[in-house]
Amino acid sequence: MTDFFERKKQQLNIVLNDVQKKAVLQTEGPLLLLACPGSGKTTTMIMRIGYLIEEKHVDPKRIKAITFSRASARDMTERFSRFFPDSEPVDFSTIHSLAFTIARSYLTASGTTFDLIEGGGKGRQPVNKAFLLKGIYKEVLKEDCTDDELASLSTFISSIKNRMVPLEQWEALKGPVDKAGRMARKYEQYKSRTPGHLLLDFDDMLTIAEQALRDDEQLSERFRNLYDYLLTDESQDTSLVQHKIVEHLVAHHGNLCVVADDDQSIYTWRGAEPDYLLDFKKVYPDAQVLMMERNYRSSKEIVELTSNFIKRNQKRYPKDMHTENEAMVPIYIRQLDNPKSQLDYVTYELLGETNLNEVAILFRNNSSSTMYVNELHRRGIPFYMKDADDKFFSHWIVEDILNFMRLSFNTERKDIFAKIVMKMNLFISRSMLTQFENTATTGNVFDAFIQTVDLKDSQVAKMKDYKKGYAVIPDMRPGRVIQLIRNDLGYEAALKSRAEKFGYRIDHLLSILDTLEGIASQLRTMVEFATRLKELEQAVQNAKFNPAENAVTLSTLHSAKGLEFRRVFMIDLLKGMIPSEEDENDAAMLEEARRLFYVGMTRAKERLELLSYGQDEGKPKEDSRFLNEVRGLLLKPSKVSNAQTSVKVSKAAVPLNPDGIQRREDLTVGTIVKHRVFGQGEITVRDGNEIHIQFGEIDKRLDLETVLSLRLLEKVSI
Ligand code: ATP
Ligand code: MG
Repeated sequence: MTDFFERKKQQLNIVLNDVQKKAVLQTEGPLLLLACPGSGKTTTMIMRIGYLIEEKHVDPKRIKAITFSRASARDMTERFSRFFPDSEPVDFSTIHSLAFTIARSYLTASGTTFDLIEGGGKGRQPVNKAFLLKGIYKEVLKEDCTDDELASLSTFISSIKNRMVPLEQWEALKGPVDKAGRMARKYEQYKSRTPGHLLLDFDDMLTIAEQALRDDEQLSERFRNLYDYLLTDESQDTSLVQHKIVEHLVAHHGNLCVVADDDQSIYTWRGAEPDYLLDFKKVYPDAQVLMMERNYRSSKEIVELTSNFIKRNQKRYPKDMHTENEAMVPIYIRQLDNPKSQLDYVTYELLGETNLNEVAILFRNNSSSTMYVNELHRRGIPFYMKDADDKFFSHWIVEDILNFMRLSFNTERKDIFAKIVMKMNLFISRSMLTQFENTATTGNVFDAFIQTVDLKDSQVAKMKDYKKGYAVIPDMRPGRVIQLIRNDLGYEAALKSRAEKFGYRIDHLLSILDTLEGIASQLRTMVEFATRLKELEQAVQNAKFNPAENAVTLSTLHSAKGLEFRRVFMIDLLKGMIPSEEDENDAAMLEEARRLFYVGMTRAKERLELLSYGQDEGKPKEDSRFLNEVRGLLLKPSKVSNAQTSVKVSKAAVPLNPDGIQRREDLTVGTIVKHRVFGQGEITVRDGNEIHIQFGEIDKRLDLETVLSLRLLEKVSI
């Protein structure tokens, strides 16, 4: 029988290096594999599992591989079956799902029932975590909390539970909002207020599982005996309570392989404990520690740049990432004019890509994604979104805008008017509105309101103006309508005063309006606009659960961890975005933001593009300090070649098809054409600058100019 490594070389064309081999062979006892991005940590972990099964004849069921997220569990399962197609499947799962099994078993045995209060229980949840926290906030601080405050409170509670801070210390902790510790305690009390019944959030599963393994010897033994080998990937993002669960599970054999890169720790805000790795030898005194510094993923330019970039961080294990890979193309940095030009640049480039699976657009905040979703969908470029943000479409601002529009179809609808009149900056009080609703007036709502309610002269004058404004809306294009709502109908001013009153971030609210305006500006009617929003919401769902095969990935920087792509666009690299304002004011958070930027850059194999823009809606924007750090590093007369500073849009990324159609008149309805991504299809509609093509089951709408200039379609003779 050939040697395992020789066999893998022949089957997979992967030759492991000496350290990787050592990590594979070192199956017994604790092992910490501390390594750089792209150095083959995940690859080695998978090889090690295969080695255990093929060479040591370990039953796959007795191996437990813990991954960071459900998505990475799926990635690993897929990678494993590719490497070892003949093996029985191995259980790759998240620590949460393992903890849930343990907690459930413990609670059931003690006769305790429970309900989950987060994670979208599809209407079955008796109480919802956010709802509960909002109530507690109001009870303690006597005011409503904003969405941001709710999110920080929730993260704070999560982080103290993950750090295993004892309950009695909570009150004294400094939290993100006043009295956060007290609210956290109240939250805990509320969840266990019914004897014999618990309300559980995701963190409780970890806490209960850990406690069960500590206190219940019988249960602990049962779970310890389930697995002979444990492995954990991305362990720099494992929290203390999670590490403790693992400690209990390997207590009798110590067969634990921990794979980590402290430079990629991006979840300390949520309680991850990368320092645990520094103490690994204290917990497991006979542990082996192996370092891997050779990067197999990225070009020479990317490895040299990123290796130097992360050295700015003070708090890290020193490492010297290097590569034997060839130089490919310079790092590409570009400041575009505004968000729209950034979007145009990226989509234009995507149209020239044939293998979209190998391309990713990475952003700091999910809110950046909607404009991209709109544009990609419009141009028929398939996309995949792992952690799609469908909340955009149900945001109250979207609902407000639609209601403003709905009223224009029938200005006698009191019910719709009631939903928006307080958002017209008219200083209408709730009691005025109630009075109006309770009076049986009919006719135009503005006239009726003036007649029913006692208003100041200035309010009456404004109401009359609004009535006039409304009269012309039905003939307007939806982009113009949104501008009118924002400016002439006082919506933007009302939003500003609301933001001040309730502590919303006005920038965020205005960016939602900008996005809506951007979507609307490409459409002709308000009905088209409403339909388009529904279409996009559906497209996001599809992109998440049912993506096309050859699709570009849209992802947050956080969710891109562990993945790799030939070409990576990092967008919106602006001051205030990454690092955020909060990050700038705290040395530890600034280092975490730098790690996040580093995680993004190290996803690229060949071509890394770092993009920003100079202004947004007339407001000047500054580049991210990290982008400037990169510029500084590239300017140094080092081994790295300089970035391109002025860039021609690279039409030549994929050569233009010499047979591609270039003339409008060749694209008539009924013509059969071939698209390089979608294959053969028939032109069904030509509408202004849009062309509809039926590719099999799928109807695509493409931009005519783009199709012609990039010669994307070829005529098919039949
Ligand atoms: P990250 O820190 O981003 O999770 P990683 O250390 O887990 O990265 P992998 O994803 O395992 O790295 O590997 C990166 C790339 O390098 C993969 O494409 C993998 O196939 C390749 N690779 C790893 N080891 C080798 C090797 N010995 N020879 C050739 N290619 C390798
Ligand atoms: Mg990995």
